[in-house]
Amino acid sequence: MKKNGLYGLFIVFLFVSSVQAASTQSSSCIDNVDVKDPTTWPFVCSRVPPRGPSLVWPQKKASFKLHQSGSSTIASNIAFDTIRTGFKTWSQVSNAQFSFVDAGFADRIQVGYDFLNESNNANLVVFQKKWIHESEVVGLTTTTFNADTGEIFDADIELNERDYVFTASNEHIQTDLLNTVTHEIGHFLGFDHTDEKTTRLSLACASSSTMAKSTYSGETAKRSLAFSDQMGMRIIYPPDPTPVGRCYIGTANPSPSFEIKQQGGPYVSKPGCQATNQSFGMIDILGLSFVFLLRQLKKLNANA
Ligand SMILES: [Zn+2]
Repeated sequence: MKKNGLYGLFIVFLFVSSVQAASTQSSSCIDNVDVKDPTTWPFVCSRVPPRGPSLVWPQKKASFKLHQSGSSTIASNIAFDTIRTGFKTWSQVSNAQFSFVDAGFADRIQVGYDFLNESNNANLVVFQKKWIHESEVVGLTTTTFNADTGEIFDADIELNERDYVFTASNEHIQTDLLNTVTHEIGHFLGFDHTDEKTTRLSLACASSSTMAKSTYSGETAKRSLAFSDQMGMRIIYPPDPTPVGRCYIGTANPSPSFEIKQQGGPYVSKPGCQATNQSFGMIDILGLSFVFLLRQLKKLNANA
């Protein structure tokens, strides 16, 4: 794996709030898709900011490790099997190819990428009891990539167990683990939030995908992939010998060597949250992202 390019750090946030349920997606959501025309694709690729290539695992494979401490609310064997199911959900899409290798358990928490001690790195899934991010964030995927090529070489999923009670059952569902990790694994693979503003999907189609921004407590719809998510796998990760697909080829000028990007995710209301509908949540999330990016740009300028 080449490490001689510029690198970026891409952080994806998963928020919670109280918006309406994602419904089962209609197959009409993928009508009129031309596989040769990215502007018609019903999914969104993450990309090297601001206008670089899309993020992708070129070899169509990645390993993952589960942190051995597991969950404090779900029996370990059930929590681990649920996470493995989330990976299988993406790797078993028909007419697509991506292999996840279960690399066992990790005993240390290394989120992000340790460039000095590369052997310390693993693609980690960890329940974090000591959450250092905003309480609204339920899950967070940190992806490290080559900013010249968009090649992902590390992705870590953190689950906020300080503020949320994860469940893995069909009864008394709170924050459904499979619903959450299936969405986060989409980010791990290089997918961004499906957004009716950046795709040709209607709001109903965009909001019913697994990569939709919005969710609600008790949601289970994201346990399985919608037609639009499956099409993303087929186009970006087609079976060999076809190489990976690209939403964005990128420009000749790579972005700064280090960037952090925040994105809003499924958004449901916590008690007392004022979010009352989906658009409010989206505006709120976009606002947060914008402010954060502005701060990062100011820091970059200050250091220049
Ligand atoms: Zn998300």
